[in-house]
Amino acid sequence: MVFEDDFSVDGNVSSTELPTGSGKGMRAYFCVICGVYVYCQYNISSGKGGRIAVRTATLENPVTPDAHIFVKDKDPWIDIVNKNICYDEMYDRDKTWSKESLKRLKEKMN
Ligand SMILES: [Zn+2]
Repeated sequence: MVFEDDFSVDGNVSSTELPTGSGKGMRAYFCVICGVYVYCQYNISSGKGGRIAVRTATLENPVTPDAHIFVKDKDPWIDIVNKNICYDEMYDRDKTWSKESLKRLKEKMN
């Protein structure tokens, strides 16, 4: 996740609204040239302090995840190495995010 106001895209994307488990929905964005799914914005986290979920496979430099969410829905052949960061559904942000990240979120929300 990155904050919306720290995020920009070079190039053109198209988007579509998709359903989510929360019922609030999300907007998914795709490269208009190759169709790759690049990022999404969950409607539940838009607006002030809004956050973008970037598809990490699209990044030039790999990152390691802090959490795997909705693991209950993953295909059985997917083997997640670090089981300590797996959540059947969504995590509790206050228990999962670092103090620094929570502080930044609080600043962005004000
Ligand atoms: Zn592309």
